[in-house]
Amino acid sequence: MALKKDQTQSSARPDYLAAHACFDCRKSFKRKPDIRQLVKLCPDCGGPAVNLGRKFKPPAKDKVSEWEVVRFLYESGFPFHSVGEPYPRTMSEAKDFVQRYEASKIKSVKVPVWTDHPVRKGKRQLRYISCSWTPYENPVLPDGDPT
Ligand SMILES: [Zn+2]
Repeated sequence: MALKKDQTQSSARPDYLAAHACFDCRKSFKRKPDIRQLVKLCPDCGGPAVNLGRKFKPPAKDKVSEWEVVRFLYESGFPFHSVGEPYPRTMSEAKDFVQRYEASKIKSVKVPVWTDHPVRKGKRQLRYISCSWTPYENPVLPDGDPT
């Protein structure tokens, strides 16, 4: 029981940093990842800085075409989650990649929420609610936020 709780906590609030990229500034910032806040604010321009995970390696700021590939992949449902091969660096490879991995593209995320236990009065339980994934929006729980 205690082990299970630790696992859910570590997936909800892992203690590693994830890359959050701003496509307009072509910069990446290390931040604590939060499934409820996949989109943070860019500290430079105030625009969206999106979570690209811990393995993302940002192109150099002046590599505009590589940043366009990153943006294309992200907007196509590939926020640099693992699909079994490295992510492509060129647009033609990226278009092929998106087609080949259509089945692996992100469509939803599971957001942990604490809710009242249905039977044990006064107890809370952690549930995972599936929320649709939208590139520049944070997950919105279907019936508001129960926590
Ligand atoms: Zn920015």
